[in-house]
Amino acid sequence: MKADYTPLLTDSMGAARLHIHRTTLTGDETRSKYVHSHGAEEVMYLLEGSGEFVIDGRTFTAGAGEIVFFPAGSTHGITRVLSGVMHYLTVRSIEPGDDPCCCEGPGHD
Ligand SMILES: [Zn+2]
Repeated sequence: MKADYTPLLTDSMGAARLHIHRTTLTGDETRSKYVHSHGAEEVMYLLEGSGEFVIDGRTFTAGAGEIVFFPAGSTHGITRVLSGVMHYLTVRSIEPGDDPCCCEGPGHD
């Protein structure tokens, strides 16, 4: 699976407690290794396509026009793209001690 991130609001732009990025995912293999947890609240707004998500072991699907909310401290992630391509916006809070968002650091794919 390939992920392209476009940071839209970052700390370098002066945002101290909010982060926004747009992501395009392509491919259909599972990506369970991306399931993670953090102290931030996070919401995804799906712009195009559909995917499979997990929150604390519960799996569900969502598609364009819907939001997916990950509560603070939940174990969550996108486990599969169901439509070949999926575009979405991610808005997350930045909590003290959180690592920078994955889209800002080196090593993401
Ligand atoms: Zn997250």
